[in-house]
Amino acid sequence: MAFCKNCGAELAEDQKFCANCGATLEESPVAVEEPVVAEAPVAEEPKKAGLNVGMLVWSIIGLVVCCSPFSIPALIMTILAINMPVAEAEKKIKLAKTFNIISIVWGVLYFTLCFIVGFLAGLAEALAFML
Ligand SMILES: [Zn+2]
Repeated sequence: MAFCKNCGAELAEDQKFCANCGATLEESPVAVEEPVVAEAPVAEEPKKAGLNVGMLVWSIIGLVVCCSPFSIPALIMTILAINMPVAEAEKKIKLAKTFNIISIVWGVLYFTLCFIVGFLAGLAEALAFML
């Protein structure tokens, strides 16, 4: 059993007009508004930087070959940067790079000094032998 939406009179199922008030009984398509699903901003897990292999190798070489104490912080920073978000890790890698550059300079000076000391020692020995 249906009722007229306009006046509320009882209606037969197949009636197209209300006998009481004359309103059209065809259902007007109701515009169903799509519920707007507000997409919650997904808190994205910051991307981890991972291991900077080049910087790791550089730090180890500096430590082993140049015996540079500056390679130690470089190595630590490279390792710490693995679990850091990319932006933060970049700063650490930059710092590690600075330390590695210092290591190379230190290594060069170290070997130069060793060479000079060795040369002078040899020279002194030679002089001592001659005199
Ligand atoms: Zn009616």
